[in-house]
Amino acid sequence: MRHADRTVLVTGGGGGIGAAIVERYLDEGAAVAIVDFNAEVGERYVAALADRGHKVHFVAADVSDFAACERACASVEAALGPVDILVNNAGISPKHAGQPMPIHRMDPAEWRQVVGVNLHGAFNFSRLLTAGMIERGYGRIVSMSSVAGKAYLGDIVAAHYSTTKAALIGFTRHLAGELGPHGITVNALAPGRIATPMVRTVSEAANRGVVDITPLRRLGEPSEVADVCCYLTSPQASFVTGQVIDVAGGWLMT
Ligand code: NAP
Repeated sequence: MRHADRTVLVTGGGGGIGAAIVERYLDEGAAVAIVDFNAEVGERYVAALADRGHKVHFVAADVSDFAACERACASVEAALGPVDILVNNAGISPKHAGQPMPIHRMDPAEWRQVVGVNLHGAFNFSRLLTAGMIERGYGRIVSMSSVAGKAYLGDIVAAHYSTTKAALIGFTRHLAGELGPHGITVNALAPGRIATPMVRTVSEAANRGVVDITPLRRLGEPSEVADVCCYLTSPQASFVTGQVIDVAGGWLMT
């Protein structure tokens, strides 16, 4: 029960890695707010979690929309109280028939969409929730970068994705410096290939190619990312800030 009495907000918590993170925090005694795109799926998911006795709240919002994030934060704080831990997890990696779009054919609207969700989303919630954390002298922020933010992954992701994931590393280090004096730690995770709907947007062969060069010879599980996320916000990591932790089975060792 390392997170008993903590309130956590997880963006993109309705599926994939985000859902594993939500469930891990609930198991560790936290109250958890999920902000995700799809209202129907989210409401159903939260109802199932609440039936198991957990303290959960769902808000449908597009993380790239600042006004929607503002409404989401107000709804979460009204339902669960001040947010202690923010997990900037929502992210997208658009593909076209299983392939990332090369830069010379990329639609500027797709570039803006990826920057909006992956980067502005993290800014929006950090902007909205850090004033309260500063006031209370305590906060934890974890953002979901990727090994793609540190190395070239070939034809698995496109330039917008790698760019936003690299930017989140700079964002993390800056916030760690700026917010450390207020008792707030800020870290990032850099997952490798994790078995979620996102990795199924490329061919089996492409994922097999990654597994073949991953020392642990498999895809990661969402729960394995959730474990490290919860560690970073736990009392066991109270002196860890400004770090980017690979959860990648040794792939790339960036
Ligand atoms: P996922 O299975 O696609 O789940 C992403 C979640 O975010 C979904 O619930 C999705 O909702 C939600 N979402 C998407 N756009 C949103 C928006 N604009 N506003 C609010 N919610 C939105 O992806 P995942 O694999 O779990 O990835 C989670 C994070 O880890 C992402 O940041 C990703 O870049 C990062 N990551 C993943 C891997 C991997 O191998 N899976 C590796 C490195 C990093 P809908 O389903 O309704 O769209």
